[in-house]
Amino acid sequence: MLFPPQTIDGGPRPLAGGFSADAWSRIRFLDGPVCDGCGVPFDYDPGDRCAACLAKPRAFDAARAACLYDETSRDPILKLKHADRLDLAPMFARWLSRTARVLIEEADAIAPVPLHPWRLLRRRYNQAAEIARPLARLTGLPYLPDALIRRRATATQGGRSGSGRKRNVAGAFEVPPGRGAQVAGKRVLLVDDVLTTGATAESCARALKSAGALRVDVAVVARVKEIAGLAI
Ligand SMILES: [Zn+2]
Repeated sequence: MLFPPQTIDGGPRPLAGGFSADAWSRIRFLDGPVCDGCGVPFDYDPGDRCAACLAKPRAFDAARAACLYDETSRDPILKLKHADRLDLAPMFARWLSRTARVLIEEADAIAPVPLHPWRLLRRRYNQAAEIARPLARLTGLPYLPDALIRRRATATQGGRSGSGRKRNVAGAFEVPPGRGAQVAGKRVLLVDDVLTTGATAESCARALKSAGALRVDVAVVARVKEIAGLAI
């Protein structure tokens, strides 16, 4: 062997996905109490929804994230997104099958947050679709790869404020003509890699609901806990 197995994070021993046991152990899985609306972890269990969701309900119905987006989980997530590490996607799908179990039980179909065709051309794959497809296979739910399209190429959400992110993706998604029957009257589980402010997921949820979706829930690999000061 020219190249002995090595860990991506420089740890001692490669385990699943090329990350060391230490790297996996530092991932903060969200298996405690979370807000039913947006999936934010509660330090204690104050009830169903966080103050932000009570004050302003989201366009989606409920969200769950497998882990916190932080310096540990960022690495494998960015490797799937930008470094052709497609082998990580089935593992993320397994995480979601556990974390989003209550949402999966209620869902009729699974759809990924789409990339704009130009970005898809450059990146060659959509990381959300790479996670959503094996999740559909695991759960036996119909997979709808083209339920949504991105009708304009939005600039990256990175480095934007909450309101800037909202403006950037407002009206960016639609259910394409002829695809409405896929989602009308259905409960759709939307899949993405990271939930930051939720602006993208909300924009997708609005498009699905205006095409007649009964309910839109969101399952993501990782969720940002504090938005302030985080550049993605
Ligand atoms: Zn919430």
